Amino acid sequence: MSSTADFDPRLAWQQEDLLLNSFGAFLKRKFGGRTQRVSIDAGFTCPNVDGAVAKGGCNFCDNRSFSPSRRVRLRQVGEQLESGITSVRGRYNKVTGFIAYFQPATNTYAPVEQLQEVFQLALSLDDQVVGLAIGTRPDCVPESVLSMIEGLARESYISVEYGMQTIHDKGLDWMNRAHSHADMVNAIDRSRGRGFECCAHVILGVPGETHAMMMETANEIGVLGFDAVKIHNLYAVRGTPLGQQVIDGDIKMMDRDDYVNTVVDFLERIPPEVVVERISGDAPPSFLIEPKWCLEKSILRLDIESEFRRRGTRQGSHFVAPGVAPADRAVPMDSTPQAIRDQIEMRGRLPVLKMEG
Ligand code: SF4
Repeated sequence: MSSTADFDPRLAWQQEDLLLNSFGAFLKRKFGGRTQRVSIDAGFTCPNVDGAVAKGGCNFCDNRSFSPSRRVRLRQVGEQLESGITSVRGRYNKVTGFIAYFQPATNTYAPVEQLQEVFQLALSLDDQVVGLAIGTRPDCVPESVLSMIEGLARESYISVEYGMQTIHDKGLDWMNRAHSHADMVNAIDRSRGRGFECCAHVILGVPGETHAMMMETANEIGVLGFDAVKIHNLYAVRGTPLGQQVIDGDIKMMDRDDYVNTVVDFLERIPPEVVVERISGDAPPSFLIEPKWCLEKSILRLDIESEFRRRGTRQGSHFVAPGVAPADRAVPMDSTPQAIRDQIEMRGRLPVLKMEG
Protein backbone atom coordinates (compact mmCIF):
# COMPACT_ATOMS: atom_id res chain seq x y z
CA MET A 1 0.00 0.00 0.00
CA SER A 2 1.41 3.38 -0.92
CA SER A 3 1.94 6.11 1.66
CA THR A 4 1.94 9.89 1.13
CA ALA A 5 5.74 9.76 1.27
CA ASP A 6 6.00 7.58 -1.83
CA PHE A 7 3.07 9.11 -3.71
CA ASP A 8 4.13 10.07 -7.22
CA PRO A 9 2.58 13.44 -8.22
CA ARG A 10 2.68 12.19 -11.79
CA LEU A 11 -0.04 9.74 -10.84
CA ALA A 12 -2.34 12.41 -9.33
CA TRP A 13 -4.49 12.35 -12.48
CA GLN A 14 -5.71 8.87 -11.54
CA GLN A 15 -7.47 10.35 -8.51
CA GLU A 16 -9.03 13.16 -10.54
CA ASP A 17 -11.32 11.02 -12.67
CA LEU A 18 -9.18 11.65 -15.77
CA LEU A 19 -8.57 9.12 -18.52
CA LEU A 20 -5.06 10.24 -19.29
CA ASN A 21 -2.23 12.18 -17.72
CA SER A 22 -2.97 15.36 -19.62
CA PHE A 23 -0.42 18.15 -19.89
CA GLY A 24 -2.71 21.04 -18.99
CA ALA A 25 -3.74 19.41 -15.71
CA PHE A 26 -0.11 18.44 -15.00
CA LEU A 27 1.09 22.03 -15.43
CA LYS A 28 -1.76 23.33 -13.30
CA ARG A 29 -0.79 20.98 -10.48
CA LYS A 30 2.91 21.77 -10.86
CA PHE A 31 2.68 25.56 -11.06
CA GLY A 32 -0.58 26.14 -9.20
CA GLY A 33 -2.62 27.54 -12.09
CA ARG A 34 -2.94 27.93 -15.85
CA THR A 35 0.45 27.71 -17.53
CA GLN A 36 0.73 28.52 -21.23
CA ARG A 37 3.44 27.86 -23.76
CA VAL A 38 4.63 30.73 -25.92
CA SER A 39 6.26 29.63 -29.17
CA ILE A 40 9.55 31.23 -30.20
CA ASP A 41 11.45 31.06 -33.48
CA ALA A 42 14.97 31.94 -32.37
CA GLY A 43 16.42 31.61 -35.85
CA PHE A 44 18.08 28.22 -35.58
CA THR A 45 18.62 26.01 -38.61
CA CYS A 46 18.82 22.22 -38.76
CA PRO A 47 21.64 19.75 -39.52
CA ASN A 48 19.18 17.89 -41.73
CA VAL A 49 18.81 21.01 -43.87
CA ASP A 50 22.25 22.64 -43.95
CA GLY A 51 24.07 19.48 -45.01
CA ALA A 52 25.78 18.58 -41.71
CA VAL A 53 23.98 15.23 -41.80
CA ALA A 54 21.74 15.68 -44.87
CA LYS A 55 19.98 18.24 -47.03
CA GLY A 56 16.33 18.73 -47.79
CA GLY A 57 15.06 18.04 -44.27
CA CYS A 58 12.22 15.79 -43.20
CA ASN A 59 9.56 15.19 -45.82
CA PHE A 60 6.79 16.66 -43.62
CA CYS A 61 8.69 19.77 -42.49
CA ASP A 62 8.34 23.14 -44.15
CA ASN A 63 11.96 24.12 -43.64
CA ARG A 64 12.32 26.54 -46.52
CA SER A 65 13.22 29.32 -44.10
CA PHE A 66 15.93 27.34 -42.25
CA SER A 67 18.76 28.57 -44.43
CA PRO A 68 22.34 28.15 -43.19
CA SER A 69 22.67 31.92 -43.16
CA ARG A 70 20.09 32.30 -40.42
CA ARG A 71 20.97 34.30 -37.33
CA VAL A 72 20.16 33.67 -33.72
CA ARG A 73 18.14 36.79 -33.10
CA LEU A 74 18.64 37.57 -29.46
CA ARG A 75 16.60 40.76 -29.53
CA GLN A 76 13.78 39.10 -31.40
CA VAL A 77 13.65 36.24 -28.89
CA GLY A 78 12.81 38.80 -26.21
CA GLU A 79 10.31 40.57 -28.45
CA GLN A 80 8.55 37.36 -29.47
CA LEU A 81 8.30 36.19 -25.89
CA GLU A 82 6.99 39.54 -24.65
CA SER A 83 4.38 39.79 -27.38
CA GLY A 84 3.33 36.15 -26.83
CA ILE A 85 2.93 36.76 -23.11
CA THR A 86 0.87 39.93 -23.74
CA SER A 87 -1.38 38.10 -26.16
CA VAL A 88 -1.99 35.18 -23.75
CA ARG A 89 -2.72 37.61 -20.90
CA GLY A 90 -5.29 39.26 -23.17
CA ARG A 91 -7.00 35.93 -23.85
CA TYR A 92 -7.14 34.50 -20.33
CA ASN A 93 -8.02 36.15 -17.06
CA LYS A 94 -5.61 34.30 -14.87
CA VAL A 95 -2.34 32.88 -16.09
CA THR A 96 0.12 31.62 -13.50
CA GLY A 97 3.09 31.00 -15.72
CA PHE A 98 4.59 30.82 -19.18
CA ILE A 99 6.87 28.29 -20.81
CA ALA A 100 9.07 29.66 -23.57
CA TYR A 101 8.79 27.06 -26.30
CA PHE A 102 11.71 26.96 -28.73
CA GLN A 103 9.81 25.21 -31.46
CA PRO A 104 10.83 25.52 -35.14
CA ALA A 105 14.08 23.97 -36.43
CA THR A 106 16.68 22.27 -34.20
CA ASN A 107 16.99 24.33 -31.04
CA THR A 108 20.23 22.81 -29.76
CA TYR A 109 22.15 23.35 -32.99
CA ALA A 110 24.48 26.26 -32.24
CA PRO A 111 27.61 26.84 -30.17
CA VAL A 112 26.73 25.89 -26.63
CA GLU A 113 27.56 29.35 -25.21
CA GLN A 114 25.07 30.88 -27.63
CA LEU A 115 22.42 28.37 -26.65
CA GLN A 116 22.92 29.17 -23.01
CA GLU A 117 22.66 32.91 -23.64
CA VAL A 118 19.41 32.56 -25.59
CA PHE A 119 17.84 30.22 -23.05
CA GLN A 120 18.88 32.37 -20.09
CA LEU A 121 17.49 35.44 -21.78
CA ALA A 122 14.09 33.74 -22.13
CA LEU A 123 14.13 32.51 -18.53
CA SER A 124 14.97 35.94 -17.12
CA LEU A 125 12.65 38.04 -19.27
CA ASP A 126 9.56 37.93 -17.06
CA ASP A 127 8.94 36.68 -13.52
CA GLN A 128 6.14 34.54 -14.85
CA VAL A 129 8.38 32.58 -17.23
CA VAL A 130 8.61 29.32 -15.28
CA GLY A 131 10.53 27.27 -17.77
CA LEU A 132 11.53 26.25 -21.27
CA ALA A 133 10.55 23.63 -23.80
CA ILE A 134 13.32 22.91 -26.30
CA GLY A 135 12.54 21.01 -29.49
CA THR A 136 15.46 19.12 -31.01
CA ARG A 137 16.74 16.06 -32.86
CA PRO A 138 18.14 13.04 -31.02
CA ASP A 139 21.49 13.35 -32.80
CA CYS A 140 21.98 16.95 -31.70
CA VAL A 141 22.55 16.73 -27.95
CA PRO A 142 26.27 16.22 -27.24
CA GLU A 143 27.33 16.11 -23.59
CA SER A 144 28.15 19.83 -23.59
CA VAL A 145 24.53 20.66 -24.45
CA LEU A 146 23.07 18.20 -21.95
CA SER A 147 25.31 19.55 -19.15
CA MET A 148 24.28 23.11 -19.95
CA ILE A 149 20.58 22.16 -19.91
CA GLU A 150 21.10 20.21 -16.69
CA GLY A 151 22.48 23.40 -15.15
CA LEU A 152 19.42 25.42 -16.23
CA ALA A 153 17.13 22.70 -14.89
CA ARG A 154 18.50 23.22 -11.35
CA GLU A 155 16.61 26.53 -11.29
CA SER A 156 13.77 26.13 -13.78
CA TYR A 157 11.44 23.62 -15.37
CA ILE A 158 13.03 22.44 -18.62
CA SER A 159 11.56 19.99 -21.10
CA VAL A 160 13.63 18.67 -24.00
CA GLU A 161 11.41 17.48 -26.80
CA TYR A 162 13.05 14.80 -28.92
CA GLY A 163 11.84 14.01 -32.42
CA MET A 164 11.70 10.24 -32.07
CA GLN A 165 8.76 9.86 -34.50
CA THR A 166 8.96 6.04 -34.74
CA ILE A 167 11.32 3.33 -33.55
CA HIS A 168 11.42 1.83 -37.05
CA ASP A 169 14.36 2.93 -39.18
CA LYS A 170 12.43 2.23 -42.36
CA GLY A 171 9.90 4.88 -41.34
CA LEU A 172 12.67 7.28 -40.32
CA ASP A 173 14.29 6.79 -43.74
CA TRP A 174 10.95 7.39 -45.45
CA MET A 175 10.71 10.72 -43.59
CA ASN A 176 14.32 11.57 -44.53
CA ARG A 177 15.10 12.09 -40.85
CA ALA A 178 18.81 11.30 -41.39
CA HIS A 179 19.10 9.67 -37.97
CA SER A 180 18.29 6.20 -36.72
CA HIS A 181 16.40 4.96 -33.69
CA ALA A 182 19.79 4.01 -32.21
CA ASP A 183 20.52 7.77 -32.08
CA MET A 184 17.32 8.28 -30.08
CA VAL A 185 18.26 5.51 -27.65
CA ASN A 186 21.71 7.03 -27.22
CA ALA A 187 20.25 10.49 -26.52
CA ILE A 188 17.63 9.41 -23.99
CA ASP A 189 20.03 7.06 -22.19
CA ARG A 190 22.33 10.05 -21.67
CA SER A 191 19.50 12.47 -20.82
CA ARG A 192 17.43 10.57 -18.28
CA GLY A 193 17.66 11.50 -14.60
CA ARG A 194 19.45 14.83 -15.13
CA GLY A 195 16.69 17.05 -13.75
CA PHE A 196 15.01 18.01 -17.01
CA GLU A 197 12.07 16.31 -18.64
CA CYS A 198 12.46 14.19 -21.73
CA CYS A 199 9.51 14.23 -24.11
CA ALA A 200 9.18 11.95 -27.16
CA HIS A 201 7.52 13.33 -30.27
CA VAL A 202 5.80 10.45 -32.07
CA ILE A 203 4.03 10.28 -35.44
CA LEU A 204 1.28 7.72 -36.06
CA GLY A 205 0.26 6.71 -39.56
CA VAL A 206 3.68 6.53 -41.24
CA PRO A 207 3.10 4.75 -44.59
CA GLY A 208 4.14 1.09 -44.38
CA GLU A 209 3.83 0.90 -40.60
CA THR A 210 1.35 -1.67 -39.34
CA HIS A 211 -0.66 -1.33 -36.15
CA ALA A 212 1.74 -3.79 -34.49
CA MET A 213 4.71 -1.60 -35.45
CA MET A 214 3.07 1.49 -33.94
CA MET A 215 2.45 -0.47 -30.74
CA GLU A 216 6.16 -1.34 -30.66
CA THR A 217 6.84 2.39 -30.67
CA ALA A 218 4.33 2.78 -27.81
CA ASN A 219 6.10 0.09 -25.77
CA GLU A 220 9.45 1.87 -26.25
CA ILE A 221 8.14 4.94 -24.35
CA GLY A 222 8.15 2.87 -21.16
CA VAL A 223 11.30 0.93 -22.01
CA LEU A 224 13.31 4.14 -22.47
CA GLY A 225 11.71 5.99 -19.55
CA PHE A 226 10.43 9.12 -21.27
CA ASP A 227 8.70 11.59 -18.93
CA ALA A 228 6.28 12.84 -21.55
CA VAL A 229 4.96 12.10 -25.02
CA LYS A 230 3.51 14.16 -27.86
CA ILE A 231 1.49 12.08 -30.30
CA HIS A 232 0.76 13.42 -33.76
CA ASN A 233 -1.14 11.98 -36.69
CA LEU A 234 0.87 12.25 -39.89
CA TYR A 235 -0.38 15.34 -41.70
CA ALA A 236 0.73 17.05 -44.87
CA VAL A 237 1.28 20.78 -45.34
CA ARG A 238 1.88 22.87 -48.41
CA GLY A 239 5.41 23.37 -49.65
CA THR A 240 6.73 20.01 -48.43
CA PRO A 241 7.67 16.81 -50.30
CA LEU A 242 4.98 14.95 -48.36
CA GLY A 243 2.40 17.57 -49.31
CA GLN A 244 3.23 17.05 -52.99
CA GLN A 245 2.95 13.27 -52.64
CA VAL A 246 -0.48 13.65 -51.06
CA ILE A 247 -1.62 16.04 -53.79
CA ASP A 248 -0.37 13.56 -56.40
CA GLY A 249 -2.34 10.79 -54.73
CA ASP A 250 0.77 8.74 -53.88
CA ILE A 251 0.20 8.74 -50.11
CA LYS A 252 -2.96 8.08 -48.19
CA MET A 253 -3.40 9.48 -44.69
CA MET A 254 -4.80 7.47 -41.81
CA ASP A 255 -8.55 7.80 -41.47
CA ARG A 256 -10.12 9.31 -38.40
CA ASP A 257 -11.64 6.18 -36.82
CA ASP A 258 -8.41 4.29 -37.29
CA TYR A 259 -6.51 7.15 -35.63
CA VAL A 260 -8.85 7.30 -32.62
CA ASN A 261 -8.47 3.56 -32.04
CA THR A 262 -4.71 3.62 -32.56
CA VAL A 263 -4.18 6.53 -30.15
CA VAL A 264 -6.19 4.76 -27.45
CA ASP A 265 -4.23 1.54 -28.05
CA PHE A 266 -1.01 3.57 -27.83
CA LEU A 267 -1.98 5.35 -24.61
CA GLU A 268 -3.08 2.11 -22.97
CA ARG A 269 0.45 0.78 -23.47
CA ILE A 270 2.47 3.67 -22.06
CA PRO A 271 3.21 4.11 -18.34
CA PRO A 272 0.63 6.07 -16.33
CA GLU A 273 3.38 8.44 -15.10
CA VAL A 274 4.08 9.71 -18.62
CA VAL A 275 2.57 13.15 -19.23
CA VAL A 276 0.63 13.31 -22.49
CA GLU A 277 1.36 16.68 -24.07
CA ARG A 278 -0.60 16.13 -27.29
CA ILE A 279 -2.87 13.50 -28.79
CA SER A 280 -3.11 14.91 -32.32
CA GLY A 281 -1.33 17.32 -34.61
CA ASP A 282 -2.57 19.89 -37.09
CA ALA A 283 -1.55 22.97 -39.04
CA PRO A 284 -3.29 26.25 -39.90
CA PRO A 285 -6.15 25.47 -42.34
CA SER A 286 -4.55 27.46 -45.16
CA PHE A 287 -1.42 25.26 -44.98
CA LEU A 288 -2.98 21.90 -44.23
CA ILE A 289 -3.57 19.56 -47.16
CA GLU A 290 -4.68 16.34 -45.43
CA PRO A 291 -6.23 15.04 -43.26
CA LYS A 292 -8.81 17.74 -42.58
CA TRP A 293 -10.31 15.86 -39.63
CA CYS A 294 -7.36 16.81 -37.43
CA LEU A 295 -8.58 20.43 -37.44
CA GLU A 296 -11.47 19.48 -35.14
CA LYS A 297 -9.18 18.94 -32.18
CA SER A 298 -11.69 19.16 -29.36
CA ILE A 299 -14.13 16.74 -31.02
CA LEU A 300 -11.27 14.36 -31.69
CA ARG A 301 -10.28 14.51 -28.04
CA LEU A 302 -13.87 13.79 -26.94
CA ASP A 303 -13.97 10.78 -29.27
CA ILE A 304 -10.68 9.48 -27.86
CA GLU A 305 -12.08 9.82 -24.33
CA SER A 306 -15.35 8.11 -25.39
CA GLU A 307 -13.36 5.20 -26.75
CA PHE A 308 -11.56 4.84 -23.41
CA ARG A 309 -14.93 4.84 -21.62
CA ARG A 310 -16.40 2.33 -24.04
CA ARG A 311 -13.46 0.00 -23.38
CA GLY A 312 -13.37 0.70 -19.63
CA THR A 313 -9.64 1.47 -19.83
CA ARG A 314 -7.37 4.48 -19.41
CA GLN A 315 -3.75 5.43 -20.01
CA GLY A 316 -1.46 2.67 -18.79
CA SER A 317 -4.15 -0.02 -18.55
CA HIS A 318 -2.06 -2.39 -20.68
CA PHE A 319 1.39 -1.11 -19.73
CA VAL A 320 3.89 -3.88 -19.06
CA ALA A 321 6.96 -2.78 -17.08
CA PRO A 322 10.20 -3.48 -18.99
CA GLY A 323 12.61 -6.16 -17.77
CA VAL A 324 15.25 -3.49 -17.08
CA ALA A 325 13.94 -0.36 -15.36
CA PRO A 326 14.92 2.81 -17.30
CA ALA A 327 16.91 4.06 -14.29
CA ASP A 328 19.05 0.89 -14.44
CA ARG A 329 19.92 1.19 -18.12
CA ALA A 330 23.60 1.74 -18.85
CA VAL A 331 24.69 5.24 -19.87
CA PRO A 332 26.37 4.95 -23.30
CA MET A 333 29.14 6.96 -24.90
CA ASP A 334 27.99 10.09 -26.69
CA SER A 335 27.34 9.19 -30.34
CA THR A 336 26.63 12.71 -31.65
CA PRO A 337 27.89 12.88 -35.27
CA GLN A 338 31.16 14.78 -35.64
CA ALA A 339 29.69 17.20 -38.18
CA ILE A 340 27.11 18.32 -35.62
CA ARG A 341 29.58 18.38 -32.75
CA ASP A 342 31.84 20.61 -34.85
CA GLN A 343 29.14 23.27 -34.93
CA ILE A 344 28.37 23.04 -31.23
CA GLU A 345 31.69 22.40 -29.53
CA MET A 346 34.63 23.34 -31.72
CA ARG A 347 36.09 26.69 -30.88
CA GLY A 348 37.82 28.88 -33.43
CA ARG A 349 35.54 27.82 -36.25
CA LEU A 350 32.91 29.89 -37.86
CA PRO A 351 29.77 28.85 -36.01
CA VAL A 352 26.81 27.66 -38.01
CA LEU A 353 24.87 30.59 -36.63
CA LYS A 354 25.82 34.18 -36.08
CA MET A 355 24.47 35.83 -32.99
CA GLU A 356 22.70 39.14 -33.36
CA GLY A 357 22.16 41.41 -30.43
S1 SF4 B 1 14.77 17.60 -37.98
FE1 SF4 B 1 13.07 18.93 -37.38
S2 SF4 B 1 13.64 20.97 -38.12
FE2 SF4 B 1 14.96 19.50 -39.14
S3 SF4 B 1 13.97 19.11 -41.09
FE3 SF4 B 1 13.27 17.52 -39.63
S4 SF4 B 1 11.40 18.30 -38.68
FE4 SF4 B 1 12.41 20.01 -39.74
